Amino acid sequence: MITQLTECVFAIDVPLPGNPLRNLNSFLIKGENRNLLIDTGFNMPECHEAIMNGLSEIGVNINSTDIFLTHLHSDHVGLAPAIASPESKIFMSRVDFELFSRFTDPNYFKEVDDIFLSLGLSKEELMDNKSVNPAMIYLPSTSAEYETIEDGRIFDLGTCRLECILTPGHTPGHMCLYDPDNKILFSGDHVLFGISPNITSWINMTDSLGAYLDSLKKIRELDVERTFSSHRTIEGDLKKRVDELLAHHHERLNEAEKSVKQRKSATVYEIASDMTWSIRAKDWESFPVAQKWFAIGEAHSHLEYLKTREVLKSEIKDGLIYYMPA
Ligand SMILES: [Zn+2]
Repeated sequence: MITQLTECVFAIDVPLPGNPLRNLNSFLIKGENRNLLIDTGFNMPECHEAIMNGLSEIGVNINSTDIFLTHLHSDHVGLAPAIASPESKIFMSRVDFELFSRFTDPNYFKEVDDIFLSLGLSKEELMDNKSVNPAMIYLPSTSAEYETIEDGRIFDLGTCRLECILTPGHTPGHMCLYDPDNKILFSGDHVLFGISPNITSWINMTDSLGAYLDSLKKIRELDVERTFSSHRTIEGDLKKRVDELLAHHHERLNEAEKSVKQRKSATVYEIASDMTWSIRAKDWESFPVAQKWFAIGEAHSHLEYLKTREVLKSEIKDGLIYYMPA
């Protein structure tokens, strides 16, 4: 299904079967000579079909279309190599590409596993997660050439000019695209209208939540009339949503801090079990393991934010990280 948003901007509704995100809004911008497709979906048949049908409904050919990936998550990059034609360029920020290119290295996932074990996830939960976590299953199947881009890079499509804006937080190298002439922002997963973007810990980033909140404030300053986001509700009010997301994270920070103060010393697993999550499960124990994994990463980013600002401190005992009041 496609939705025409402006004369040259279309949204393609890409289903994400079995995933709580439900769908990806992929965007096609018609250019004078070449078009730009923003994000692609998981490497799975349902996404492939939706993108190809969408492109033909819009009446564009993949041979004259390049692909821009807002960030390294597999619901955005997964399908890119499978749909790209030999003439298509695939763009990704250098920062995310450097991490993404390590996804084929078993040592990378071992490092990530070790972090999650230190946060209190059990070995059994970690193994269960590997078999169900879509982030790990629907990665691109073939290797492809990616062209890495830096903050400030301009894409001139003839019909519009798009500026790449680095917005670290959701991933270390997440990028939004901004069309200053038409006051349009493609916000990727940086700002979502139906849900709050997941902020987690990364092996190459110490304070991802701090970076995310700074990136929200940066984007709030832009002169924007229309904002198009990657999941569920396509369009919304940027400044209002940024304010809601800032307030949301300050509430979560308060919750995390309160949990640590009550428990005096606790693992991230324990603190995450005290926090409020918008997941349909009767209690923390019955959370699906992939959701526990996301919740623990999210709790960790909040605890590291508080530690960076000397509200909390941490200590490692028997391979587990414990947080306590500073
Ligand atoms: Zn994402």
